[in-house]
Amino acid sequence: MISRRAFLETVSAAVVIPGWAGQAAPPNEWGSPVFDLHFHMRPQPASNLAHLDGAGITKANLLTRATAAEQVAAIEAAAPRRFTWFSSADVTKPDAEQALTAAVKAGAQGFGEMKFHVAADGPELRRMYALAADLKVPILVHFQEVDHFPDEGTWSTGFAKTFESMLKAYPKTTFIGHADAFWANVSADYHNEAAYPSGPIVRGGITDKLLGDYPNLLGDLSANSSNNALSRDPEFTKDFLARHRTKLLFGSDCSCTDGHGGGVSQANNPAAARLAGKCVARETLTILKRSTTPAAFADIVWGNAHKLLTIPA
Ligand SMILES: [Zn+2]
Ligand SMILES: [Zn+2]
Repeated sequence: MISRRAFLETVSAAVVIPGWAGQAAPPNEWGSPVFDLHFHMRPQPASNLAHLDGAGITKANLLTRATAAEQVAAIEAAAPRRFTWFSSADVTKPDAEQALTAAVKAGAQGFGEMKFHVAADGPELRRMYALAADLKVPILVHFQEVDHFPDEGTWSTGFAKTFESMLKAYPKTTFIGHADAFWANVSADYHNEAAYPSGPIVRGGITDKLLGDYPNLLGDLSANSSNNALSRDPEFTKDFLARHRTKLLFGSDCSCTDGHGGGVSQANNPAAARLAGKCVARETLTILKRSTTPAAFADIVWGNAHKLLTIPA
């Protein structure tokens, strides 16, 4: 049994933790404070906190629609210094730029998540890539080519074929990749056969290559999509996390109520049944912890978010 003091000394000797200004990190089951980049805002302040506290998450980025400044303010009042926020607006509507600009003026630190039935290289998203660069905020994009239920439709299509041209065309835009197509394409043998492919990963996948080649691309480790990719091939996962440790950010995208898998998890997504009844945050943090060094783990779950965003200490 390790004493609390010895534990804190071990933690503070092992990793420098931004946002804690020389203080030791608070004791935490993960051994590092954790920032959840991908947390969909819930209407009641207490419901947001229930997930963070239940899963052992220190702070989170609320994903909201349009100008949610008032709702965010209510949550921040209930739990000071624990939240940042992103905003999204329907990119097919002419006032999307106006709405997102207003949200950033009101305190949003990014666009997201951007999940619309348009092409990844189409005019609707191109306007958003350009605006994100102008406003100096990152843009979080949901890429999906395979339906989760009949007639769902696809989202930001063309990741494998056209997204590299967007990274080249918008070098000042910070892109954060997320969802099925982004994570399935870590394997070089993927051709949109399934939302969540299984089996060992074939090295040299598009996502791995883009993360290596483009400083303006980051990866969001949230949801079943990332958890599935990280679960396929433990040796690959270790190498992949080490290779991209400065470019990957932990997120949950979890819909459980309590940070322990309660409530309805993975609703409307039978293909993600492997995580039904589980907390996606806990499952992914567990994989990350066993697949990285303590310093790389701290980068991925905390430090990298502090380089990207202004997170209140
Ligand atoms: Zn998504
Ligand atoms: Zn959860």
